[in-house]
Amino acid sequence: MVIAMEELSRACGGIALIFGSTGLGAFPIILFGNDEQKQRYLPDIASGKKLAAFGLTEANAGSDVGGIETTAVKDGDYYILNGTKQWITNGGEAEVYSVFAMTDKSKSARGASAFIVEKDTPGFTFGKKENKMGIRASATCELVFQDCRIHSENLLGREGLGFIIAMRIFEKSRPGIGAQAVGIARGALEEATTFVKHREQFGKPVSSFQGVQFMLADMATKIEMARSLVYSTARMIDSGAKDISMASAMSKLVASDVAMEVTTDAVQLMGGSGYMKEYPVEKMMRDAKITQIYEGTNQILRQIIGLELLKKF
Ligand SMILES: Cc1cc2nc3c(=O)[nH]c(=O)nc-3n(C[C@H](O)[C@H](O)[C@H](O)COP(=O)(O)OP(=O)(O)OC[C@H]3O[C@@H](n4cnc5c(N)ncnc54)[C@H](O)[C@@H]3O)c2cc1C
Repeated sequence: MVIAMEELSRACGGIALIFGSTGLGAFPIILFGNDEQKQRYLPDIASGKKLAAFGLTEANAGSDVGGIETTAVKDGDYYILNGTKQWITNGGEAEVYSVFAMTDKSKSARGASAFIVEKDTPGFTFGKKENKMGIRASATCELVFQDCRIHSENLLGREGLGFIIAMRIFEKSRPGIGAQAVGIARGALEEATTFVKHREQFGKPVSSFQGVQFMLADMATKIEMARSLVYSTARMIDSGAKDISMASAMSKLVASDVAMEVTTDAVQLMGGSGYMKEYPVEKMMRDAKITQIYEGTNQILRQIIGLELLKKF
């Protein structure tokens, strides 16, 4: 997943996110689904026939996911969902949605559950489609549930596992955003390097100036550092390691900060041309910004790393 994310993001972080969010939407089924749910949904997602999405965030629940207000009330063999999810990637485009809702508000963090909801289920519609700074190829939309009846066979795991499912998934998905950041940074470095070799000032290519070479060197070194961290976390996850929360947070934190720095420097190296829409680096700079925000803002990731560290010593 991280290799695919990096390669796609090198050309377009928005297109890469359509793939990445399908992974995020499928993770709850892969990790917590029963055999029947896996058989029913995963082959079509894996073959690319269907997109998936992950519906957790709400207007009053961003970093504090415990604040979700969408409810799922048991009614015989069904749950009735009511509420609105905000800023959901692939919203309106995906066929399969992993949706988090409160089944028992009195239990707060242990009162959330996760459900699979299919597009075209009565009572499930789409609201506002967002107009974003970057990753504009990727749709970001509201999910609206109004007395939406979901069969209890669509419950993932068991009641009350919702937040555990969400946290386990973020631990595995964050290196994917790290890889998106590495890919965007790599694309920007390649564009800037090509540009400075051809742009001449003071009678020479600007690449001949040491000040420019030092900037390129720092950009390349930072990308390699970020990629190493992303890949080593991905290898940890593939090896079945359990204690991945800190490494996973670090990989997204480092890679996203690197993406922001490198894309900004790429614009700088290309001068006024870098600022123009004729060249792709201004888009890459806008695309990079989101990697510091979603799947845990970088402040929240620092908090996770700090708390994990305090537990260890
Ligand atoms: C383009 C886009 C796509 C998205 N896709 C999805 C999706 O597919 N599915 C989904 O469920 N969500 C999605 N999101 C939501 C995203 O995960 C949230 O935006 C993110 O978690 C941050 O929440 P927030 O925007 O409400 O910011 P807030 O939580 O309101 O944070 C505002 C600021 O306060 C800081 N802050 C908050 N709490 C603390 C704290 N305890 N300590 C220090 N600082 C703090 C934050 O770091 C941030 O700087 C998407 C968002 C965007 C913009």
